[in-house]
Amino acid sequence: MPIYEYNCLDCGREFMLFQKMGASESDSACPQCKSTKVKKLISSFSCSSDTSSVPTASTHRSGGM
Ligand SMILES: [Zn+2]
Repeated sequence: MPIYEYNCLDCGREFMLFQKMGASESDSACPQCKSTKVKKLISSFSCSSDTSSVPTASTHRSGGM
């Protein structure tokens, strides 16, 4: 299940929600002030959070797939 990151426009809190694909902002409410005025942020939690070293195709790591 993908993780979506939101930013509350009312209190400014950033929070993350596990949501199904196609969920919209109206399905999300701020956990702090319960406001639904939230903005979806661009999250890079697609598959791996390994951003320290992104191997190219020539670099074969044994720990990968
Ligand atoms: Zn809020």
